[in-house]
Amino acid sequence: MKQITYEKIVEEVARLCQEANYDLGQDVIQAFEDSVKTETSEAGKSILNQLIDNANIATANRVPMCQDTGVSVFIVKLGQDCHITGGSLQDAINEGVRTGYEEGYLRYSIVDDPINRKNTGDNTPSVIHVELVEGEDLEIQMTAKGGGAENMSALKMLTPSDGLEGVKEFILNTVREAGPNACPPLVVGVGIGGNFESCAYLAKKSLFRPVGERHVQPDIAALEEEMIIEINKLGIGPQGMGGTTTALDIKIETAPCHIAALPVAVNLNCHASRHKHVRL
Ligand code: SF4
Repeated sequence: MKQITYEKIVEEVARLCQEANYDLGQDVIQAFEDSVKTETSEAGKSILNQLIDNANIATANRVPMCQDTGVSVFIVKLGQDCHITGGSLQDAINEGVRTGYEEGYLRYSIVDDPINRKNTGDNTPSVIHVELVEGEDLEIQMTAKGGGAENMSALKMLTPSDGLEGVKEFILNTVREAGPNACPPLVVGVGIGGNFESCAYLAKKSLFRPVGERHVQPDIAALEEEMIIEINKLGIGPQGMGGTTTALDIKIETAPCHIAALPVAVNLNCHASRHKHVRL
């Protein structure tokens, strides 16, 4: 059985938090560069170029690419033959977030209570999803999820009679209503199926797939291809200034569901699509 220490997890999580905020993934930068070539609006092109410059400056100067350094969300795949020593997984992740945000001079974006709203002062607690898997590895995926895009996300319990057309309409309406508020160009994460809570998780999880990658299932891949075209016909454009690049990509994940239900969740990610991972 593999042993992984509490301290090792703290150290790795702190690094992931800083790298997520400083180093935009090459997949996202490539999508910006590809979009500059296809964007029809001059304002849109200019903003895409500014986003590329912004990402390069953040990396070079070790500063966050956006002032909103987000909620730290983790998807952890814990091998059933992996043993964490010296403390709990949750405590280690939160200590890593605390360390990473403090030492990286990253904004603290979490309040302790949704009504009283006192800042916790260290960006904890994080949101942690743990999946128990075969093997002895510990895989930690992290995103610094911006508040503006999260606020414009939505979930709806459709019924089977709404069908695929109802799903498409809900995706497009969610992006249309978000307009400039979700900081486009977006990565649109979609969950279809499951139940109320697992559908939202599917949408979040889909955003961890690299930009530009299509789903392995041909029918879902085709739906992604169709919907990215439809989303980019909405005309919202980079930062809502108009144009053909409303979204860089769409990711769709599906799951079995109840015979009477067709849940759909749309989790919007802004252009600061910040995802990092480590396997220990
Ligand atoms: S939604 Fe994203 S781009 Fe907009 S302010 Fe928040 S982190 Fe920054």
